[in-house]
Amino acid sequence: MLEIVKYGEPVLVQKAQDVKEFGRKLETLIADMHDALKRDRGIGLAAPQVGVSKRLFIVGLDDEPLRVFINPRIIASSEETCEYEEGCLSFPGLYFGVVRPSAVDIEALDMYGKPFRLSADGLLARVIQHEYDHLDGILFIDRISPAKRRRALAHYSRMLNM
Ligand SMILES: [Zn+2]
Repeated sequence: MLEIVKYGEPVLVQKAQDVKEFGRKLETLIADMHDALKRDRGIGLAAPQVGVSKRLFIVGLDDEPLRVFINPRIIASSEETCEYEEGCLSFPGLYFGVVRPSAVDIEALDMYGKPFRLSADGLLARVIQHEYDHLDGILFIDRISPAKRRRALAHYSRMLNM
């Protein structure tokens, strides 16, 4: 079982590299990430969160088949934004509201290297943007004000020491 990398590990703040090889090894990584996602009851997981600095993430919303995004590009974001309470498997137990565009258009490759395009809103758009950020080494604490970030990190370190 893949371990989820927690906040503080350098891989989480690195810019990940494009996936160049498709095949059995990639399929195994995706299957293992899917197992880790289900085990930790998450809805999204990016490869850097399992220590693999590649541009790949998965989204598994309730009652939907797993979605795989490889070498993704967000090509449009709505002007309309909304705040939603987010968590992150790399910060277990920490949740806070993050403002992001309400809808995005994204292009990516599927696990076989086939391109697709998707317009997403609601929870799917939210998870896509959170996971996409992981590929650029951006964490959800980077999307809030400095004051809110200090409070969130102080709360997080208190939780870890409990
Ligand atoms: Zn995350």
